[in-house]
Amino acid sequence: MTPKLPITAWFAIALATTVALIYCRAWLYRAFRRSRFLVRFISSYVLIRRRRWFNTSLTVLQILLCLAYLVVNGLCILLYSKWNSKWNFPEIARRCGIMASINMVPLFTAGRPSIVVTLLGLPLHVHHLLHYWMGLVSISLGILHLVFVYFSGAIEGHPTTSGALTIAGLGCILGLSLTPLRLWKYEIFLKSHHFLGVLSVGGLLWHVIIAKGLDFWPLSLPLTSIFFWAVGLILFLHNLRIRSQEVEISKFHRVRDIGSFSCREADVVRIEIKLRSPETVRPGQFVYLRFRDFYFSDKIQTHPFMISWWESALDSPKAQSLTLLVQPVNGLTRRLSSKTFLQDVSFDGPLGLNLHLESYDNVFLAVKGIGIAGVLSYAKHLIELETYIKGPRITPRKVDLYWELEDNSQEEWAGPLLRKLQIKNDALKVRLLQLWCYFPSNQTREPFVELYYPNGVPREDFQYFYPDSKCFYKIEDAIKEVAKFSSGRSIVVACGVSKFVDQVRKKTRNAMSPAGILDFVETEYRPRSEPPKQLAKWPHRPTISGPIPTTEKDMSKSKRVTFI
Ligand SMILES: Cc1cc2nc3c(=O)[nH]c(=O)nc-3n(C[C@H](O)[C@H](O)[C@H](O)COP(=O)(O)OP(=O)(O)OC[C@H]3O[C@@H](n4cnc5c(N)ncnc54)[C@H](O)[C@@H]3O)c2cc1C
Repeated sequence: MTPKLPITAWFAIALATTVALIYCRAWLYRAFRRSRFLVRFISSYVLIRRRRWFNTSLTVLQILLCLAYLVVNGLCILLYSKWNSKWNFPEIARRCGIMASINMVPLFTAGRPSIVVTLLGLPLHVHHLLHYWMGLVSISLGILHLVFVYFSGAIEGHPTTSGALTIAGLGCILGLSLTPLRLWKYEIFLKSHHFLGVLSVGGLLWHVIIAKGLDFWPLSLPLTSIFFWAVGLILFLHNLRIRSQEVEISKFHRVRDIGSFSCREADVVRIEIKLRSPETVRPGQFVYLRFRDFYFSDKIQTHPFMISWWESALDSPKAQSLTLLVQPVNGLTRRLSSKTFLQDVSFDGPLGLNLHLESYDNVFLAVKGIGIAGVLSYAKHLIELETYIKGPRITPRKVDLYWELEDNSQEEWAGPLLRKLQIKNDALKVRLLQLWCYFPSNQTREPFVELYYPNGVPREDFQYFYPDSKCFYKIEDAIKEVAKFSSGRSIVVACGVSKFVDQVRKKTRNAMSPAGILDFVETEYRPRSEPPKQLAKWPHRPTISGPIPTTEKDMSKSKRVTFI
């Protein structure tokens, strides 16, 4: 029996079904919003994301879609491939080859910035997950193509050199993508991944030309991949232009106690970038930063950082300067923490999804430690809505910012930005923002924000909680209150290490009722939970005794770069 539809048509049908399912999700959710059982079941167990593998958070629906994708690929290869009740191996080999090429096309949309991903509005972690699975399927099918060609005896007359080149490229990508290797030297992995990807698609093009000649349809798949890659490369080269006019860095330290040892480590580097030309920045966006005055191996690296703050001119919302908060890990960011000045930086972006929090009535931002870098831009944007949108404010009516500090010294780097938020909030006709900061140790210094009105009455909208504070307001009570008493649409946005986000997610689920449904979302930036490797070296360092300054600022103004 021969297939009634070509294999590409089967795949297109499957893809259309997947898209329809994604749209159905929103429709189903709206349709059953009022049913007590379905609200708890669908919201809590199907649609609310939970952090699972690969440091990503997925809904049950997304996991089902991944499984469906695997099944559909299998069906496209096996359907109608029996001939007189025997498997037709040359046909299976051919289909494996075609499916490997089809799955390869979306992989080349992974450049930065990727127009396709931006148009589809995919969150970064979903894009990474799709890339991972499609890559895995494409490579596996490429290898299966080789196996079936070999065992079906069709190897005679098959272009072997080009095939071997493609399979070698794909095999190396697979080997390098194994998690331990990837985590060991992430940047080496990234660069070799790009190189091997181009090598594989070049090999595939050569393979198809030799096997099928200059037939348009077989050639269209590798050519589409190359087209996407070329668009990504052009955008990348375009972004190589220097975009900073002046860069200022400030370093902030914290003290860690390990047994009887104390050590002072860089906690955050605040980078303030004055832009050469104003840029449009949306809340929740990030940039891939490139440092130009590092060694060559660091110069070619680009790292993503959230735009925590931006300053605009009075007459235009476009950003003239950006503020990034960088927490050193082990690689380039650690080397950055030992720099005293930066001459210039360039970046790809701004990129990333805007969560459109302005469409909600109540917004609850729950963050821990450096997680505040991921939500400050939302708080700023929501407060500033009135400045740039003419007419009365409709939504949101309330924004709660809950910040759990990992160390009291963290207020030093975020405090000035919180103070700016407070000034903007106080200037509103109806105040919007409520800030709660939770400190792990008792108060030792004056707060950055005003906690009292000029007449000495404590403010209710800006509150600091210390372990010895008389009153303490728990996060679960705050979330419950949002769900219970706030009318309209409400959303909880979380940013922090996975344990913290999991707790917030659980509390959000528990607070939900048919009358008070909350949306829950995690930001694109997911801070890592492991301590930096440097911790292991600490016990061998000399103990620091006496009073230790917890913060140190290097406000060395960078050299000015003149542009012609
Ligand atoms: C969307 C997004 C926004 C982010 N915003 C911030 C922020 O505002 N502040 C902040 O401190 N950190 C932020 N990060 C994390 C930051 O990008 C990494 O900590 C940094 O790239 C680590 O660099 P490194 O060389 O020191 O890391 P290494 O010690 O070499 O690697 C540690 C880990 O960092 C990740 N990583 C390393 N290089 C890259 C890269 N080029 N792209 C993506 N991930 C990488 C990998 O998971 C790797 O395993 C953000 C990450 C993402 C994805």
